[in-house]
Amino acid sequence: METVEGVKRMHLVGGSLALDFINTRTGPPGGPSDDDVLTGYPELVAWGAYAGALTDTETAALHRLSRNDPDGARAAFARTLRTRDNLDEVFRPLAAGKSPSARALAQLRDDEADALGHAQLERGSTFVWAWREDRTLARPLRPVVHAAVQLLTAGALDRIKGCGGCRFIFIDESKNRSRRWCSMDDCGTAEKMRRYVAARRTRATR
Ligand SMILES: [Zn+2]
Repeated sequence: METVEGVKRMHLVGGSLALDFINTRTGPPGGPSDDDVLTGYPELVAWGAYAGALTDTETAALHRLSRNDPDGARAAFARTLRTRDNLDEVFRPLAAGKSPSARALAQLRDDEADALGHAQLERGSTFVWAWREDRTLARPLRPVVHAAVQLLTAGALDRIKGCGGCRFIFIDESKNRSRRWCSMDDCGTAEKMRRYVAARRTRATR
């Protein structure tokens, strides 16, 4: 059983809030997921805070709001999981060099329209979308959905890759586009270990 603290064991290696959101589910590459840190609304809020999508004030407000409206929180969490499935359907094909379905893209458009409908344009060095005034239970989802659209419209699609050792998706920002693993500490090390053991076995049988 995951806990609110459990979300912090997920490494944020996607390079985009949208990909890190997809990466809240773990498992082998290509197969179904075998673990999920998002087990309820409190975990969703904790993940949003951990991933830098929610301020401390927003996090506290959302925990309060969800305690006062448990049915609303359950519905918002169910919607979160559907959104994550949809983002998976958009980015997993892209990581494999294919195009996502028109249905998944249309759903993302609807989610983005809803997200921007609750945002304001705030001035920084450029204007940015912000959800400071959004007091709805869908608040944690808004920046995730927007990050997905930004990645699709302005990111380098050919840099979106799937890890060779697990189901994580990431943006390969390396100069020669040679990144193969979600992180060298996890899948990269596991692969090196496998190769080392295989090489030793080959030597031993000579
Ligand atoms: Zn991996």
